[in-house]
Amino acid sequence: MDGPVVLYIEDNADNRMLVRRVLMAEDFVVVDCPDGQTGLAWAAEHTPTLILMDINLPEIDGYAVTAKLRDLPHLVRVPIIALTANVMKGDREKTLAAGCDGYIQKPIDVDLLPRQILRFILEAQARS
Ligand code: MN
Repeated sequence: MDGPVVLYIEDNADNRMLVRRVLMAEDFVVVDCPDGQTGLAWAAEHTPTLILMDINLPEIDGYAVTAKLRDLPHLVRVPIIALTANVMKGDREKTLAAGCDGYIQKPIDVDLLPRQILRFILEAQARS
């Protein structure tokens, strides 16, 4: 059986490769998109288990992409987790206000990431 499907929206190719490698090693299926527009187009037609959202993206930032994803009825129960280096006071609140369910801080801790994501998936399942 296939593992959880993670949609990862991230403009940095090194991060996309890193997250893909780390999560695939733990049997996640990873779909990555380099910008919000591509991610929105994919998400309009699929239901991932979880969405990992970079905040600093070209054109449309992660807050705006999250808000648009939250308008899609089939994604109402899909957790959206912000992945960002923004550590200014208030950034966490901004991600939650945009509709994110949680927050993972960059730099990515490759040892922790699979468990962090699994925890968010289990929390979302417990809520629904
Ligand atoms: Mn970025």
